[in-house]
Amino acid sequence: MELEELKKKRDAVILAHYYVDGEIQEAADYIGDSFFLAQKATELKEKTIVMAGVYFMGESVKILNPDKTVLMPDIEADCPMAHMVKVEDIEKMRAKYDDLAVVTYINSTAEIKAYSDVCVTSSNAVKIVNKLKEKNIFFLPDRNLGSYIAKSLPDKNILLNDGYCPVHDEIPVDEVRALKGKVKILAHPECREEVLDLADFIGSTKAIIEEAGKYDRTLIVTEEGIFSELKRRYPDLDIVKLSKHPICQDMKKLTLDKVKEVLEKNTNQVHVDPEIRERALIPLKRMLELGV
Ligand code: SF4
Repeated sequence: MELEELKKKRDAVILAHYYVDGEIQEAADYIGDSFFLAQKATELKEKTIVMAGVYFMGESVKILNPDKTVLMPDIEADCPMAHMVKVEDIEKMRAKYDDLAVVTYINSTAEIKAYSDVCVTSSNAVKIVNKLKEKNIFFLPDRNLGSYIAKSLPDKNILLNDGYCPVHDEIPVDEVRALKGKVKILAHPECREEVLDLADFIGSTKAIIEEAGKYDRTLIVTEEGIFSELKRRYPDLDIVKLSKHPICQDMKKLTLDKVKEVLEKNTNQVHVDPEIRERALIPLKRMLELGV
């Protein structure tokens, strides 16, 4: 059966993250970064949502839409960074500080979200942390995004966790340095501080896509899936690549055939423990309120 028929049969809509394969992005109803997709998921009328991304994205969609069926094209596609923090780390920090907010990047498990005060994405992290009354912020799980927030908001005491995105963390700083001044460097805040210090612009995938439209030639320091959208929007843009451009192997596990297969068989459904879901909904909803 063709994709459109399958979508009709399941009353389904396809959401895709910018990092999945271009073929899936072409087939998707909505493409975006984590914040856009989380927000969009709350506005849809269809009964089934296919979340073309990694597992935490499917979990977030399910938490926000418990009555809908959420399907993952590849249930094994997971974000390693999401697992780089434990509930005990949060409990220890809460015991240490009275005036503490636990701020969790959306790239985290449902369980960690359930123990958090508010969630953020790279699009709204600085804005949301700035709005919090607490001075001490335990930022999870990404140390690089946490450092970026700390630099942006020097009045806050940002306590870092040692998680990181292996894709962004390994970007070769020497290669980026060699291009400094020759091309506009646009970087994602999941990159290391040394890379961010060289960037002309730091922003979420969405912000990078918008910024890139101002130039003829750019070095895009984030996952290469973003190139599909850049080529769609700016066909003449000269995109400079690093010798080994960052690729998220988990995002690349997804294929269009897998999207069709889950729609056909109604498999790879996301389930979240009801108690965890109820608790995790609070910081996610808070993010949607504070992040606009
Ligand atoms: S690019 Fe990094 S943060 Fe994003 S899903 Fe892949 S491993 Fe996780």
